[in-house]
Amino acid sequence: MQLQYKLIKVVCPRCGAEKEVPVPNSLFSQKKTGHIKIRVPKGVVCQEHVFIVFLNINGKVIGYETVDLSVSSITEFEPPEKKSVD
Ligand SMILES: [Zn+2]
Repeated sequence: MQLQYKLIKVVCPRCGAEKEVPVPNSLFSQKKTGHIKIRVPKGVVCQEHVFIVFLNINGKVIGYETVDLSVSSITEFEPPEKKSVD
């Protein structure tokens, strides 16, 4: 079965950078009601900001939420290895 995508035009709520991103149609068919929340990582739409986009089940953008800090950027500052205590 082929994955079908819907192109959604997403705009960074902080700086206005915009890009069309492909969202699989299956995401919409799984949802019967409510809205879809997608976290947009840095570098996908905007090179500087992480944000969350809310879509309705028809694939229309209904809102954005900004993210001050993403967990993945916190872990980058953690030491990669834990000292083992023997
Ligand atoms: Zn931005």
